[in-house]
Order: sequence, then structure tokens, then C-alpha cells
Amino acid sequence: MAYDDNNVFAKILRGDIPAKKVYEDDFALAFHDIGAKAPVHVLVIPKGKYVSIADFGATASEKEIAGFYRAVSKVANDLGLVKEGFRSIANTGINGGQEVPHFHVHLLGGKKIGPMVSD
Ligand code: AMP
Repeated sequence: MAYDDNNVFAKILRGDIPAKKVYEDDFALAFHDIGAKAPVHVLVIPKGKYVSIADFGATASEKEIAGFYRAVSKVANDLGLVKEGFRSIANTGINGGQEVPHFHVHLLGGKKIGPMVSD
């Protein structure tokens, strides 16, 4: 699947639309999910143009991959999610229910998160 420059996270990265940012570095941007499903619900996205976790792991450079996952850990730590625990989710494609075609990791916490999968 080709990367769509008009997806909403591409617009956030360009600054075309606002986001409630919690962290940013050379490799990643983290911001609050607009439709929060938990007391803490943050999205972490790579700065590069990657459609999904599969695309990212297969085609991003080692520097980008390391930088991105360091940022995921930093955000989880900085938001105080690590002690009590949290859930990280990367929905992918149609069966995964991915709505925005720019790779993102959801971090959900602040309460006990419900069943991992429900129909
Ligand atoms: P997914 O289904 O994994 O692609 O998740 C996309 C997520 O992006 C959803 O949880 C949406 O609530 C969230 N979302 C969509 N538009 C925005 C936006 N402008 N700012 C923040 N989060 C958004």
C-alpha cells in the first residue's frame, strides 16, 4: 500500500492541523488521541512515511526503528504508565481495524484496560 500524504497524521506532522503533543524528537511525535478510550490514551508515530508496523519494520532504517521505540518507552515512562501497566496496540490494515494509514502505536493506561480482543 502506497503512503497517502493526506492522511490525518501526515497533516499533524506538517503542522496543518493541531494536536495535543506530549513528546517530540527527531524520530517520533506523541500526542493525545482525539477519541480517548482510557484515562491516558496517547499515540506515538514515527516521523517517516510508513503505512503500518509491517511497513516500518521492513523498510525503516535501524536508526529510525531504534529512535521510534526509544520514544515509545520514554513516553510510557514519562506519562507514568509503566508502574501500573498499560496496553500498546498497533492496528494494521482492514482486519486490524486501522483507520489512519500512518504507523502508530496506541498507549492506553490509567485504569485496567479491558479484554485484549472483543468481537
Ligand atoms: P487506528 O484505528 O489504530 O488507525 O487509530 C486511529 C486513531 O486516531 C483513533 O483512535 C482516533 O481516535 C485517532 N485520531 C483520529 N484523528 C485524530 C486527530 N486529529 N488527533 C488525534 N487523534 C486522532
